[in-house]
Amino acid sequence: MKIIFIGTGAGATYGSKRVKSSIYIKSNEGTSVLLDLGTGANFKIEDLNLLDFEAIFITHLHIDHINGLFDHLVQRKILRMKEIRVYSPPGILNVLDSYVKSGNNISANVIESELPKAKISDLEIYSVEACHSIYAVSYIITDGEKKIIYTGDTLEPCETVLDEAKDADLIIHEGSCIDNCKQYGHTSVKQLIEMYDRNKLIITHIPAQIENQVKEIAKGYIIAHDGMIVDV
Ligand SMILES: [Zn+2]
Ligand SMILES: [Zn+2]
Repeated sequence: MKIIFIGTGAGATYGSKRVKSSIYIKSNEGTSVLLDLGTGANFKIEDLNLLDFEAIFITHLHIDHINGLFDHLVQRKILRMKEIRVYSPPGILNVLDSYVKSGNNISANVIESELPKAKISDLEIYSVEACHSIYAVSYIITDGEKKIIYTGDTLEPCETVLDEAKDADLIIHEGSCIDNCKQYGHTSVKQLIEMYDRNKLIITHIPAQIENQVKEIAKGYIIAHDGMIVDV
């Protein structure tokens, strides 16, 4: 599978150096899906011409994970693209409806579930509940050979996440602060380097303004940046 980090910023990220959360995954057979679509990430998928994904999977309803979606839906109408399937924990339909009711010509085929899952051609995607300040899920993506977990936002230790991460080939994990952000439902970079094997971990969801500190403390670890491509 090929993973393109579209947006690697956190909710607290200031400016556009890192746009907000979004990850594009393409299977070896050419099936692609998008995980989250935060603010600004909608522009990146257009710049990179990555509009061929077959579904979008949302981890939770915080703005930095969903706001790019609505802008993207406008482009889909303009470009006459087919209605996109959006898998999400409950609540996204309400947000979409309020945009529609206020006069926006957008639509999506939304499938809400406490634990969204789907088989999209050769990709199998399922979710477990994460440990965040609001209801959130982490996604597990497999092509039958490799297994990736994308945590979305979660604090650690989170039993469900740890359980799925055990046999994953790649762990894409949020790291929202240097030291302690438990009270906001997040994991610190210090925790990550204590908990996870550096060969399997990619750190994302990083406030751009602390990027240099993150690089310093997590030397030898892979720190995602917008546009980064990884094969697994
Ligand atoms: Zn976030
Ligand atoms: Zn969040």
